[in-house]
Amino acid sequence: MVAAGPQRRCRVCRKAGAKRELTRWTVAAGMLKRDVRQTAPGRGYYSCSEQCAGILPKTIKGLVHV
Ligand SMILES: [Zn+2]
Repeated sequence: MVAAGPQRRCRVCRKAGAKRELTRWTVAAGMLKRDVRQTAPGRGYYSCSEQCAGILPKTIKGLVHV
């Protein structure tokens, strides 16, 4: 088996992929923020596509919806 690096799973559709191929999001002050560098502190959420990114906020409780 080839080492493929850290694996993460899209929160929306559950598709697994390499960490670098997914978009990481963190929640700061009730707002979901795209974590471009994938190094922001706190709980991270991952999405695999723009479509899943659009659904992602609906899956997280405690967000401040604008
Ligand atoms: Zn997805």
